[in-house]
Amino acid sequence: MPWRRWWCGLFCLLAAAGAVADSGAAGPELELVLWPEQARLEGHFRVELQYLDAASPVRFRLDPGIAVDAVELDGQALAYTRSDDGWLELTQSLAAVDGTLVIRYGARLSDAPRGARGGGYLGAEGGFLPPGADWYPRRPAAEPHPFRVDLDVMDGHLGVASGSRVTEDHAEASYRATFEHPGGRALAVATGPWEPVTQAAGEVEIRTLFPAALEAGFGELYRNQAAAYIERFSDELGAYPFSTFTIAASPQPVGLAFSGFTLLGTQVIPLPFIPYTSLGHEVLHSWWGTSVYVDPADGNWSEGLTTFLADYQFKREAGEARAERGQWLRDYAALPATEDRPHGTFRGGNAGAARIAGYHRGAMLWLMLEDWIGREALLAGTRELYAQWRFREADWDALIATFDREADADLRPFFDQWIGRSGAPLLELTQVQRESAEAGWQLRAQLHQRSPGEPWKLRVPLGLKTEDGQETHWVELEQEGREVVIETDARPLAVAVDPDWRLFRHLAAEESPDILRRAALDPQTRLIALGDASAEEVASWLGRLPDPAERDQGTRILLGDHEATRRWLAERGFPGHPATVKPGLDVPPGPRAWMVPGAAVVVISGADAAARREVVGALRHRSHYSYLLPGQDDAPTTGLWPVPGVWQELNDDE
Ligand SMILES: [Zn+2]
Repeated sequence: MPWRRWWCGLFCLLAAAGAVADSGAAGPELELVLWPEQARLEGHFRVELQYLDAASPVRFRLDPGIAVDAVELDGQALAYTRSDDGWLELTQSLAAVDGTLVIRYGARLSDAPRGARGGGYLGAEGGFLPPGADWYPRRPAAEPHPFRVDLDVMDGHLGVASGSRVTEDHAEASYRATFEHPGGRALAVATGPWEPVTQAAGEVEIRTLFPAALEAGFGELYRNQAAAYIERFSDELGAYPFSTFTIAASPQPVGLAFSGFTLLGTQVIPLPFIPYTSLGHEVLHSWWGTSVYVDPADGNWSEGLTTFLADYQFKREAGEARAERGQWLRDYAALPATEDRPHGTFRGGNAGAARIAGYHRGAMLWLMLEDWIGREALLAGTRELYAQWRFREADWDALIATFDREADADLRPFFDQWIGRSGAPLLELTQVQRESAEAGWQLRAQLHQRSPGEPWKLRVPLGLKTEDGQETHWVELEQEGREVVIETDARPLAVAVDPDWRLFRHLAAEESPDILRRAALDPQTRLIALGDASAEEVASWLGRLPDPAERDQGTRILLGDHEATRRWLAERGFPGHPATVKPGLDVPPGPRAWMVPGAAVVVISGADAAARREVVGALRHRSHYSYLLPGQDDAPTTGLWPVPGVWQELNDDE
């Protein structure tokens, strides 16, 4: 199915692709009638010819599984062809002709999420017509344009479509609503057996469309949180671009953002952190992704910017920003070089290497820019980007030009480097010397780049602990190495390169504990299965069945019971137990996972397959740690191996 995906947040998907050209005429209109119990769809698409570029062949994407009842111009049938690859094309030229083009069509869809005909599904649990799927006649290459959808949903279900809900009417067994989009690109529709609750947030109507049980438990919290996010981002970036915002429940385990609504899985909604994390991320896509669109010909910048301005900002406000940056850099340290990709090549995907390239590299890019040009200039750039590019497709050049102007600086080399390059700097400070100066103290050292390739152009924060506290000194580094001289009033006690992880870089060994994620990030990870252990036990974590390891090298998972794994490790001279690595660690007898430091071996051990599967299930959201042990109340105990850190103590002056 040729629709484009951008995964975001925990699981989210963004609108993509487009439709018809802008000539000032009213945009296309779609009357859509949905019968969930029969999984049936009927569409009546209408567009003024002057709105199309009738000089070239008039053609639309439309799924080959959809039956076309009529193609007419002012009531007269028009000849057309349809292709197996999903094009409907008029066979006669319509140049210099006025009139209204109508396409009437219908389809029976899957009744559950299986993809298939019409590119969506429609059933008793809910329905979803995804953006960019060909469930209505659309022109993917066209600019964003006004669009109206009159939506009728039968069988007591409700519905939501891209844009603002401008009218609605609830009848006994049918629901009718009209949605208008001032600059739609690829429309989405969702339906479900929902209980609607609406509240006002300033000018915006916030609605939850949850099943009754979820509404009772979570509806108000979600509406309040969405209202707070909309107010906050409107203040920060410019007014929310629609008059309604809807949070709708989906039978799929998703978090998806569209113009004017978000879809969240019924299993996702009750998770306690979602209203405080992923919901804010999805709301912010109303600015980045579903109103300022990503130009599909270029990289997807929206996930990095959204992660920086939502998820990361929330962490910052909770005092957890440094920890978050450390986690991103440890994930990057666990990524094999073969999987490392430049941020500019990111198109979509929200797991593994794609997540690092799209979300973490992106968020760090914006953080490094903020450190350079300042918070005010950065926010001014985002406001300008939104003001200038709302309902248009913006590529990286558009972003760079906007921030250049707002910062009044040549940011091109900065962006080119962080968008275009894979890899990252590896920094080292040597020959550190402390001297007393006439007034205060002086610290001299050599700062080096140890990574291969051209030197990176960097502003490096050097941390300095003195008798008066901690200081940060920013140092330009554009060559392989240079001498740095820092003057301080107080006596320096210790120095470190980027101790707070403000640069996207390779961590030094002393600050980088091995983490479990390495096995999931390495496509070459092999399995050593001891006793009755089998590859199926770890497939859900890796997303594949790993091959058996044939050699004692490369990333490996060691799977078996505690005693067998301990013996295997001891025979090779590795620590056989987590408490050997971290003395004093309380290690209960149940199933566990831990990374053997320096060995590229992840041990997953437990009494039997069921116990090991339990720990593998927990790894999905906890593999950014070094170990995962049985804990209290079903919550595993997690942690990182101790590392010495990057602070260099300054010894007594020679
Ligand atoms: Zn996202």
